[in-house]
Amino acid sequence: MVDFNTYRTSGWKRAGYVAVLYVLLALMFTGLGMLLAPPSAEVGGTRPGATIPDHLLELGAFGLILGAGSMVIYGREGLPLVFLTPALTVSLDIDHIPAYLGYAETIRPAHSLVFALAALAVTAITIKAVDMELVVASAFMGHMAVDTGLFAPFSPLTFQYFQLDPYRPVFALGAVICAVAAGVVFRMRRSELDSGGGRRIG
Ligand SMILES: [Zn+2]
Repeated sequence: MVDFNTYRTSGWKRAGYVAVLYVLLALMFTGLGMLLAPPSAEVGGTRPGATIPDHLLELGAFGLILGAGSMVIYGREGLPLVFLTPALTVSLDIDHIPAYLGYAETIRPAHSLVFALAALAVTAITIKAVDMELVVASAFMGHMAVDTGLFAPFSPLTFQYFQLDPYRPVFALGAVICAVAAGVVFRMRRSELDSGGGRRIG
């Protein structure tokens, strides 16, 4: 078992673990949405096929900017974030898969504040690294900042839909703040560890 509860663990291992966790949780919320939603809420349609690559590219591009923003502060060891943040940003759309396969589902079952809290809680409990939680928060908000249209913020508890558009600037700001904060937290923890180690040796 890899011990993720340390800032000395390889950034790639931590990034890989967070990505797997995030995708599994998004799939779980997709399943919960299909199980719990009343048929009246199952109105999730598909986006015209031609616009999908553009949208995923937009999501990936914003994720890349956020990841790069963290890395500027992390330094060289932050390279995994240049991959992790866009990967998380894009992978939230995995909740559209049932609609593409022709199944009735709610609109964006994992684009939910409940999902975001669950992802943060699971990351916090298993990794206990605040910088990774901030990356998860940044990627989620980054995705919401790029999307438009309807979402159910409390899915799968209730499936009442709201317009996402008025909240997009708030999500964008939150995404940038969390990306920068992730870098700051990591640097602080690393320098604490380094100075602690130095005292033990000296
Ligand atoms: Zn989306």
